[in-house]
Amino acid sequence: MEILDNVKNRVYRFGNKAADGSSEMRNLLGGKGANLAEMSAIGIPVPPGFTITTEVCTEYNLLGKDAVVELIKEDVEKAIENIESLMGAKFGDQENPLLVSVRSGARVSMPGMMDTVLNLGINDEVVLGLAKKTNNEQFAWDSYRRFIQMYGGVVLGMKPESKDDIDPFEEIMEHLKEKRGIQLDTEFTIQDLKDLVYDFKDAVKKRTGHDFPTNPWEQLWGAIMAVFNSWNGDRAVYYRNMHGYPADWGTAVNVQAMVYGNMGNNSGTGVCFTRDAGTGENKFNGEYLINAQGEDVVAGVRTPQQITKIGSERWAELAKIDEVERIANYPSLEELMPDIFDELNGYQQILENHYCDMQDMEFTIQDGKLWILQTRNGKRTGAAMVKIAMDLLKEGLINEQEALLQIEPNKLDELLHPVFDPNALKRAHIIAQGLPASPGAATGKIVFFADEASKYKSSILVRIETSPEDLEGMNIAKGILTARGGMTSHAAVVARGMGKCCVSGAGALKINYKTRTLTVGDHEYHEGDWISLNGSTGNIIEGKVATMEPELSGEFGELMKLSDKYGIMKVRTNADTPKDAKIARNFGADGIGLTRTEHMFFEVDRIKAMREMILADTLKERKQALDELLPMQREDFEGIFEAMEGKSVTIRLLDPPLHEFVPHQLATQKELAEQMHISLQAVKNKVAELEEFNPMLGHRGCRLGNTYPEITEMQTRAIIEAALNLKERGIICKPEIMVPLIGTVKEFEMQEQIIRNTANIIFKERNDSVEYLVGTMIEIPRAALMADRIAERADFFSFGTNDLTQMTFGYSRDDAGKFLPIYIDKGILQVDPFEVLDQEGVGQLVKIGTERGRSTKPQLKVGICGEHGGEPSSVEFCYRTGMNYVSCSPYRVPIARLVSAQAAIKASL
Ligand code: PEP
Ligand code: MG
Repeated sequence: MEILDNVKNRVYRFGNKAADGSSEMRNLLGGKGANLAEMSAIGIPVPPGFTITTEVCTEYNLLGKDAVVELIKEDVEKAIENIESLMGAKFGDQENPLLVSVRSGARVSMPGMMDTVLNLGINDEVVLGLAKKTNNEQFAWDSYRRFIQMYGGVVLGMKPESKDDIDPFEEIMEHLKEKRGIQLDTEFTIQDLKDLVYDFKDAVKKRTGHDFPTNPWEQLWGAIMAVFNSWNGDRAVYYRNMHGYPADWGTAVNVQAMVYGNMGNNSGTGVCFTRDAGTGENKFNGEYLINAQGEDVVAGVRTPQQITKIGSERWAELAKIDEVERIANYPSLEELMPDIFDELNGYQQILENHYCDMQDMEFTIQDGKLWILQTRNGKRTGAAMVKIAMDLLKEGLINEQEALLQIEPNKLDELLHPVFDPNALKRAHIIAQGLPASPGAATGKIVFFADEASKYKSSILVRIETSPEDLEGMNIAKGILTARGGMTSHAAVVARGMGKCCVSGAGALKINYKTRTLTVGDHEYHEGDWISLNGSTGNIIEGKVATMEPELSGEFGELMKLSDKYGIMKVRTNADTPKDAKIARNFGADGIGLTRTEHMFFEVDRIKAMREMILADTLKERKQALDELLPMQREDFEGIFEAMEGKSVTIRLLDPPLHEFVPHQLATQKELAEQMHISLQAVKNKVAELEEFNPMLGHRGCRLGNTYPEITEMQTRAIIEAALNLKERGIICKPEIMVPLIGTVKEFEMQEQIIRNTANIIFKERNDSVEYLVGTMIEIPRAALMADRIAERADFFSFGTNDLTQMTFGYSRDDAGKFLPIYIDKGILQVDPFEVLDQEGVGQLVKIGTERGRSTKPQLKVGICGEHGGEPSSVEFCYRTGMNYVSCSPYRVPIARLVSAQAAIKASL
C-alpha cells in the first residue's frame, strides 16, 4: 500500500496485512485505530478501512465542518477507493455495494461512551443490490432498518425526549409487533422490514423536517461529524471528567468495511477475552451469537452462548440446563464451528503474545469466514489485574518492571473493598441467581432509575438492562443488577471498569418501571427495599447483609513485595489510633507520617476533657484539664508505638481548628457547665469569645502551643514517657515530634525549645532517655519560602498539602465544596486540587521548600502528609521532587507503595 504523502497525514489506512499506522500512534489514531493498524500489519484478518486522526477532531472543534471536510476530502475519497479494491465492492453501488461502519476511538477506551454508525452507504437502491449480492433479502432490509435507526439516533438526534419516553424507532417497531401479534425482532417478515424502513423515514421527516439522506457520501460525512460531536456529548464529558481525561485529546474516527454476522446460520458474532476478566485465570473465554450483529451481544437482548466447551458446561450448570438441552440449544462455538474456533484460538494467542497483555477481542463470522474486528487490552477487575500481571511475569511474557507498570494503582482499591461477612451470609435468603459480572459485595436500597441512585445513602440500581446514559447512576450506586445481558453486556463491562459489584442477566427478575417493582416468583420488592448482591457468585439476596474487609490473595502479596523491591521512596501512613496503625502496618506502612493528636479526642468522654482545656480561663484550670488528657494521650502513643515497633512515628502537636471542638449546642454547653462547675452563661461567654471569623486561619497549630506552652509541654511529656515505657518493655520506637502550621522561624524555635526542655526534664526524672527528632510541617506558603532558615533548626519537613493548597489557592477547605464542582464543570479547574496535587502551582512551593531546606541541611528528611500522599499522580510528583516518603491513609498504603515503584521505574526508563 502506498503511504499517503501529504505533509500532515490526517487519514491512515489499514487492511490486507498492511497499514499506514501502528500501535505506537495511539494518541493520533486513538486506541481502536492504532490497534486496527497494528493487527492488520501482523496478519490478523481485520476488515479494511481507515482512521481519521484525533488531531482532525481538534481541528473540527476549532474550524467547523466545512473547513475540515475541505482538509480531508481527497484523502477520505482515496481511502474509500482502497477499501473498495480490497473488498471487491463499491461504495454506493447498486449492484455490488460496499457498506461501512463509522466508529469513534479515543486514545483510551471509553466503553459505550461514544457513538457508532453501522451499515452506512445503504439507500433504497443499494438495498436491492445488497439483497441480490447476498442472496438474502431479509438480511438486506434488516440492515437497512438498523442503519436508519442508528443513523437517525446518532446523527439526526432521533432519541427519546424524556426518561419515560420510548425510543421513537422502538415505538414504531413495538406498534408493528403488536399489530402483527409477534414478540421478537427476528419474527419480522421482509414486508415488515420494508414497512419499518418507510415508517422510520417518515418519522425522521416529521421530527427533523428533512428527508433522510440517501446519498452515501452525505451519510458518511454526517456520521464522521457526529462522531466528532460525540466527543463533547454529555456521556463522554462525564466519563472524561470522572477519569480526568483532558478535553483536547479528541477522538479519532474509524471507517471500516462492514462484515456481517447476520447472514444466516453460517454467520455469527462475539466477544472474547484471552483470560478471565473477573478472576484473571488463564482461560480463553467469551460469548457469541449465531446469525447476529455485534450490538446484539452487547445489548443483551438475546442471551449469548459460550465460546469454549468448558465455559459452556459451566454456564449450563449455573443455569440448571442439562447436557442434552445444552448441546441442542446452547452449544459452544468450539462444538458448533470447530475450525473457526481453532482459528480464533490461534489469533487470541498471537494477539496476547503480541500485546503482552490480556486482550478483549470482537469478532464476526461472515458466511464461514472469520474477521477480527477489534482487540484491546481487556478491562478487568482489580483482582484479575493483579493475577494477570503476576502470571504474565511468571510465564516470561513480561519482566518485573513491566508487570509493575501494568497495574493501575487506583484499581487496587477494589481488592481492599468489603466482602460479605460469612456469618451474616449464613442467614441470607438467596432469591435469584444472575451472572457474576463484577465481583465484590454490595448492599443497598432498590432504585430503578439511574438518576435516582443518590436518593438513598446506599442504593442498588436495578435495571432490565443498562445503557451509557445510566453511567452516572451506576457510579453512585453501591451495586448494579440487571435482568438481561451477559458477561460482556454494557452493565458488566462498565461495572468491572468501575470496580463496582454487578450481577447481570438474572432472567428470573421481572422489572416493572411503571409500578417501580421487582418481582421474583410470587414475591414483590419495591423501591426502597433492601437488597444485596454478590458480584463474585451472582447471588441476589433479600435484605441487608453485613460486609467485612476482604482477604488479600497470594498474588497481591507478590505484587507488594515486587513494589518494595523497586520503590525507593518509602510509604508511611496517617494514623491516629493504635487500631489504624495496626491496619496500616498490615498493609505494609513503613512507619507513621502523621498522627493528628486532636483526633484522639473525638470520642465522647475524651472530647469533654479537650473542651475543658480549650475553655479554661486560667493557667491553673488549663493545667488541670491537661493533666486529665495526659494519661489518655500517653496510652494511645504507647499503642501506636507498639504497632509500629522499630519504625519512625511522627506525632504532630495539637492543631485543632477551634470551631471543631467548641460546643455549639445548648445541651452540650449545659453539660460542660456542670462538669466545669461554672454557669451556662460563663460557657456561652467563653464560646462567644473563642468564635473566629476564619477558624482555618485562626488560633490553631503552633499558635496554640506558643500562646499556651503548657499544651506543648503536656504532649511532649506524653510522647517521651510513652517511648520510655516501651523502652522498658524492650520495644524500640522512634518518635518524631512535629510542629504544625509554622510560618516564621521563631514560631518553630519557641516550640522546639519547649519540647527539648520538657524532654530533658523527663530524662532526668526517669534517669533514662530515648532518641527523638523535632521537625515541622510545611503547610503555610511562607514556611516553604523560608525553608532554608527553618531547616537550620528542624530535623525534618513534612508537607501539609491540605493547608498548603488551601492557602496557596485561597480556597477555604470547608467552603470549597460549594464552588469547586462548578469550577470543574466550567473547565476553570481540571480536577479538585484538594484531591490531586496542583503540581504546577502548589507543587512549586513543595519544590522550593525541599530545595531550600536541603540547601541548609543536605540530608534533611522530607515527606508529605496531606491527603495527596495516597493519590497516584501526586505520589509520582513527590518521588520526582526527591521526597524520602509519602504518608497516606491506611487503605491507600498499597497504592502508594506501587506508585513509588512505578515512579522509580519510569524515571529509570
Ligand atoms: C495538611 O494540612 O496537609 C495536614 C496534613 O494537616 P491537616 O489536614 O490536619 O490540616
Ligand atoms: Mg494542616
